[in-house]
Amino acid sequence: MNDMPTPPIISPWKITRSLVQNICTAARSTYPDEFISMIGVTAVDSHTLSELVVIPAEFGKTHSSLRTDLIPFDPLIVGSIHSHPNENAHPSSADRNFFSRMGSIHIIAGYPYMFNTMRAYDSKGKRIPLTLIET
Ligand SMILES: [Zn+2]
Repeated sequence: MNDMPTPPIISPWKITRSLVQNICTAARSTYPDEFISMIGVTAVDSHTLSELVVIPAEFGKTHSSLRTDLIPFDPLIVGSIHSHPNENAHPSSADRNFFSRMGSIHIIAGYPYMFNTMRAYDSKGKRIPLTLIET
């Protein structure tokens, strides 16, 4: 038994309110299918997510897939976002596999799609904090 408290996870990642709104709008418009897209920053080494990078994709009710062959090589594309049309924002095994290949920050937006139902994960599928900023 180990009663040591888990140390808090330090995360540099932030997300702009406008990106949160864009994600929520897109997720609602594809509901009850999943929405999936890449996400980006505006400067190399920035950790402020602000861009929705829409890539051709097939949206399904329990699974969606991106045309990963059409993702441009761009260091400003840092991760992904997809919606879960239910209240479960935990990554599936397919999600974890995708996270490990497609960047360093991944968001799952659980229904009903608002910042409070979004969860962020690193490339290993470990949950990390995400801070909402107003700019
Ligand atoms: Zn998923």
